[in-house]
Amino acid sequence: MPQRILVISDIHANVTALQSVINDAGSVDGVWCLGDLVGYGPDPADVIHTIRALPNLVCLVGNHDAGAIGQIELASFNRDARITVEWMQKELSEDDLAYLKSLPEKVTLPEFDVTLAHGSPRNPVWEYLLDTFTAQANFKHFKTKICLVGHTHLPVAYYYPNGSRSVDWKLILPEDDLKIESRSIINPGSVGQPRDHDRRASYAILYPELMRWEIHRVEYDIASVQERIRAAGLPERHAVRLAGGW
Ligand code: ZN
Repeated sequence: MPQRILVISDIHANVTALQSVINDAGSVDGVWCLGDLVGYGPDPADVIHTIRALPNLVCLVGNHDAGAIGQIELASFNRDARITVEWMQKELSEDDLAYLKSLPEKVTLPEFDVTLAHGSPRNPVWEYLLDTFTAQANFKHFKTKICLVGHTHLPVAYYYPNGSRSVDWKLILPEDDLKIESRSIINPGSVGQPRDHDRRASYAILYPELMRWEIHRVEYDIASVQERIRAAGLPERHAVRLAGGW
């Protein structure tokens, strides 16, 4: 049986979406989490505890995790983000914060020919890969065949088409079964706050020996998450956007 790796990113304190993803994925040989466990959502502690219990886990730090542990000046956040960070710092225990502090920014797994980063291999915590120019410039910042990133909340792949010197990209839909032929930078989409106008939680299964990549989308109880966002006094916008997937 080829190994199945569950690849998740941008959970954003949405434990309901995370639990749906874990149930839907079924049995896996490992879990790679590309960061942003917290921020926006109502369940930062529950998400940290659930992630930590996953088998053969590799977990990275994201920009919202860096905010929670005070690595970013609060003044540099917009008002909604600042309210969330201040609330989150009260919700998380010393142990939760120590866990976030322990997370690496970028990991190379040579045995799988894979590099992991939250945003990009060049600037792991912060850079957004939203266009082919930025993606192309990033290919020299990792040596493995593929690099997996999150941060934009969009399930896309940047890759070199056969024989081409310029990077192309495509959106990966749930029914696609992507065979990774050439060097690629691939994003599993977001578990807890998808932004491609499909509100379902997004995750990927990688078969590393086969270099096959599947995107899966799964429904979860959005209304219950919205209720907890409102009960916690978090910004209304964080609740509304979950229903529209933006
Ligand atoms: Zn994020």
